[in-house]
Amino acid sequence: MVLLGPPGSGKGTQARLLEDRLGIPQISTGDIFRRAIALNTPLGIEAEKYVSRGSLVPDDLTIGLVRERLREKDAARGFILDGFPRTIPQARGVEEMAKELGWELDAVVYINVPERILLGRLVERQTCPSCGMMYHLANRPPLDEGTCDECGSSLEIREDDNEETFKKRLAVYFSQTSPLVDYYKHKSRLVDIDGSGGVEEVFKNMSAALGDRRKGFGKPIDDKSKDTGSNCQNKGELHNSR
Ligand code: AMP
Repeated sequence: MVLLGPPGSGKGTQARLLEDRLGIPQISTGDIFRRAIALNTPLGIEAEKYVSRGSLVPDDLTIGLVRERLREKDAARGFILDGFPRTIPQARGVEEMAKELGWELDAVVYINVPERILLGRLVERQTCPSCGMMYHLANRPPLDEGTCDECGSSLEIREDDNEETFKKRLAVYFSQTSPLVDYYKHKSRLVDIDGSGGVEEVFKNMSAALGDRRKGFGKPIDDKSKDTGSNCQNKGELHNSR
């Protein structure tokens, strides 16, 4: 499954909820780049030139990275791609990988949020540098101010979550990523979700839209802890044709 949407549309938050619900990994190219930058690896040094300016990391580098990641064991039963593909060449890369690895793209969820709402979300966003969990000071605050509920690390504001870089990221989104909406519409893969509400509401919209296609959706988010084992049967069915 792919999650598509502008910066601040909630892809990361929704991908994590899906990960819990379905028991398949969320694969976020943004998280992979941020981790590499924090560790100062060769990938991080290269990626930082683009991420800090709000530009896209070149396609060949990004496609290669995802290709490697999808070969890992935890992705064998399906995965949620968060923030990838972001360009038409990356979407073609996904098709090649699907052929190579023997799976089929199940759905491309487009989280549709009006531009006026996006900036407000980003400037109040805090992110965990260790596990990538995201919080929003008004809509989804951490239980303890400044501390990640999941892993206890101190929360940070992402370097690229400032107004200037956000505007650049949005312009990049409209010129390079939004054409994917039509691309996947033509391939009958697009599931268009209204992402302007709160986290639970959006998850409900998404579950309803996807639930018509698959089992395992449609329960409230709070039920997720009970699902983790029992849902296993569905996990393989979801995204992998092997
Ligand atoms: P995100 O966390 O998805 O908002 O991504 C943060 C930044 O990482 C983006 O602004 C890009 O610089 C880079 N990035 C993430 N995913 C991709 C991708 N699929 N292609 C190119 N650059 C990406």
